[in-house]
Amino acid sequence: MKQKEITLNTLLDGNNINLSDLSTEDIGNEHISTSVETPMREDAFSISDEEKMAKIQAHFKGIMETLGLDLNDDSLRGTPERVAKMYVKEIFNGLNPVNKPKIALFENRYQYNQMLVEKDITFYSNCEHHFVPIFGKAHVAYISNGKVIGLSKLNRIVQYYSKRPQVQERLTMQIAKELQAVLQTDDVAVLIDAKHLCVSSRGVQDINSATVSSFYGGKFAEEGTKKEFLAYVGMRTDY
Ligand SMILES: [Zn+2]
Repeated sequence: MKQKEITLNTLLDGNNINLSDLSTEDIGNEHISTSVETPMREDAFSISDEEKMAKIQAHFKGIMETLGLDLNDDSLRGTPERVAKMYVKEIFNGLNPVNKPKIALFENRYQYNQMLVEKDITFYSNCEHHFVPIFGKAHVAYISNGKVIGLSKLNRIVQYYSKRPQVQERLTMQIAKELQAVLQTDDVAVLIDAKHLCVSSRGVQDINSATVSSFYGGKFAEEGTKKEFLAYVGMRTDY
């Protein structure tokens, strides 16, 4: 499988690309993101989920009608309502901080100060430029500074940030920053290997490509530690 490595320099160092020089098509097709934080409106949660679903249902009905679809058809009639519910309650429920997983830390009783790796966490997200799926595997690791968290919580953090309109680099960074905050350590690594349906099913239609993005904090920036992590998750290190 062909793989493309993305660097996170644009996000980390601030923007060195002047986005206003780019067309809407360029930004979408190159999947350029503007910040680590998901851009949200100030009034993002001034209305309830129920009100959001009612609005989205009406808007989506309009989209379908504009496309020329007949919503009197039994198969199509319920689609606006289903899409609205799916957006608010499922695939984009990670936009709302009330859904953020509550993380309890445990004392590291076994004095386990080696690398802890949770690999092959399956996730489904959506591209914020095209609103079609991004899916793949996330691999996360940390070196405990005295506290540990339950393995299922690592999975929950990945799922929470996946359930937003995303770009892969931002998803990588948001997971990494959250782990660093929760675990109170810089020693965190995140690697995401994903497919983008907007690349495989439209645009350049490259069905074989996968995109790899990574974040190496603290000790993981050291070559030996990084290699150990990549060996655990089964990634090649010779390119
Ligand atoms: Zn896209």
